[in-house]
Amino acid sequence: MRINNQQFINGEWVDSTSGETLDVINPATEEVLGTIAKGTKEDVDKAVEAAKNVYLDFRNTPVKERQELLDRIVTEYKKRKEDIIDAITDELGSPRELSEKTHYERGVIHFTEARDALDDFQFEEKRGESLVMKEAIGVSGLVTPWNFPTNQTSLKLAAAFAAGSPVVLKPSTETPFAAVILAEIFEAAGVPKGVFNLVNGEGKTVGDALSSHPDVRMMSFTGSGGSGAKIMENSSKDFKKVSFELGGKSPYIILDDVDVDEAAKSAVKLVFNNTGQVCTAATRTLIPESIKDEFLEKAKQYMADVKVGDPNNEGVEMGPLVSKDQFETVQEFIEKGIEEGAELYFGGTGKPEGLEKGFYVKPTIFTNVENSMTIAQEEIFGPVMSIITYKDLDEAIKIANDTKYGLAGYVMGQDKEQIKKIARSIEAGSIAINDHPGSSDLPFGGYKQSGIGREWGDYGIEEFLEVKAIKGYYA
Ligand code: NAD
Repeated sequence: MRINNQQFINGEWVDSTSGETLDVINPATEEVLGTIAKGTKEDVDKAVEAAKNVYLDFRNTPVKERQELLDRIVTEYKKRKEDIIDAITDELGSPRELSEKTHYERGVIHFTEARDALDDFQFEEKRGESLVMKEAIGVSGLVTPWNFPTNQTSLKLAAAFAAGSPVVLKPSTETPFAAVILAEIFEAAGVPKGVFNLVNGEGKTVGDALSSHPDVRMMSFTGSGGSGAKIMENSSKDFKKVSFELGGKSPYIILDDVDVDEAAKSAVKLVFNNTGQVCTAATRTLIPESIKDEFLEKAKQYMADVKVGDPNNEGVEMGPLVSKDQFETVQEFIEKGIEEGAELYFGGTGKPEGLEKGFYVKPTIFTNVENSMTIAQEEIFGPVMSIITYKDLDEAIKIANDTKYGLAGYVMGQDKEQIKKIARSIEAGSIAINDHPGSSDLPFGGYKQSGIGREWGDYGIEEFLEVKAIKGYYA
C-alpha cells in the first residue's frame, strides 16, 4: 500500500487540517492502491502563504542559480526513475514500457528544456532610454489531470521555477503518487522552502480554494473544459492570469498518395496510445474515398494486434482506462456512436476477453462517421477511432476545422504542396507532418476551446512572467 497522507507545505510534510484521506484505486486490479490526504481550504491558505513569503527572494535569484536548481532536480529525478515508473504503472495503469519511455522521460525532458531555455532567455531589454523587463508573476496555482502524471506537472513546475515563481501544486486524485515523488525529489534537490508546495485533494475543494485565493497571481491548469471554466470563473473575480491546456478532437488527414499500410499503422497508434487518454489523440481519421477499403482492412489488422492487458506484463501495449468513471464514459460514447448510425467496424462495448477485472476496454473503430455525430465532436478519452471520408482537400480541411477544439492536427502524404496547405489551414496549436516527432523546444497549446497560452520551453516560461517597462532607466 502507498500511504502518503500528508501535504508538503513550506518545505515540510504536514498533516492536512481535515485529518481525512482519499483512496486511490489501481485501475488494473480495481483494488485500493493507497491513500492521500484529503486537502482543505485551510491547507491551501497555508501553502499560498508559504509561497507568498518567498516570492520576492525567489524572483530575484540570479538566472544561473535557477539553472543550477533545475540541474539538481534532473539529477535527483533520474535517481528516482524506478519509483516513478512503478508509481505511474500502478496509479494510471500505463504499460511499464510506456511509463518509462514516455511518462518518466517527459520529466527529464521538461526540466532540462526549461534549464536550456534560460541560456538565452531575454529577461531584460533596453529600448531607447528605457528598460523592459520580465519578472516572475508571483504565486502560481498548478492544477493537473491524471493522464500524464509527470508530464503535466513537470511542464508547469519547470517553467515556474525557471521564471522564478513559487507554486502550489494540486495534482489529480487519481494519480497523486508521481507528484508525491516529485515533492521528495525537490526536497533532495534543495528547492528553497516555500517555493514548491503540494496540496493533495479534490478539485471542488482544493482546486476551488486555490483558484479563488486572492494571493494567487496565476492559474496554470490542464484538464477538461468544465473544470477549466470553473477555474476561469474563480480567477475572473480578481483577474488572475490563466494558462489552460484543455481537450482535443484532433483530425488526421490522410492523403490519397500515402503508403496505406504506413498510414493505418500511424493512425491506429495515435488512437490507442496511453489507452486513448491523450489530449492530442488523432481520433478523427479523415481518409479519401479512393483508399477507404484498403485503409479499413489495414487499420483493423493493426487494432487487432494491439496487446491489451496487465500493465506489468512484458509486451503489453495498452493497459486499462484510469477509472471506473472513465470506463463508463467510454462505454456510453460507443453506445452513442451505434445509436447515431455510425458503423461499428471493430471492437465495441464491454471488456476484452479474459480481462474482466480492471477498467479495460476494447480498441474500437467506427466507420461511416459523420463529423456532426457525437463521437466525432466530443472528446472520448478512450481508444476509439472515428473514420470519416472526404472528397477533396477543401472538404478535408473544412471537416478538420469543424470542431470546437483546436489542439493538434496530423497529415500524412507525399504531395508537399498539399501537405503545406493543410498544415497552414488547420486551426490548431500543433500540426505533425508524416509522423514528425518535433522537439521539446516547440510551443504546445490549443486554439479555440483547447486552451489559452502555451507550454514547453521558452514559451512555457513566458506564462509565468509579468512585463514591466521602466521609463528613463538609462537616461
Ligand atoms: P478534470 O478537469 O476532471 O481534472 C483536472 C484537474 O482539475 C484535477 O486535478 C481535478 O481535481 C481538478 N478539478 C476538477 N474540478 C475542479 C474545480 N472545480 N476547480 C479546480 N480544479 C478542479 O480532467 P481530467 O479528467 O483529470 O483529465 C482529462 C482532461 O484533461 C481531458 O479533457 C483532456 O483532454 C484534458 N487534457 C488536456 C491536455 C492538454 O495539454 N491540452 C493534456 C492532458 C489532458
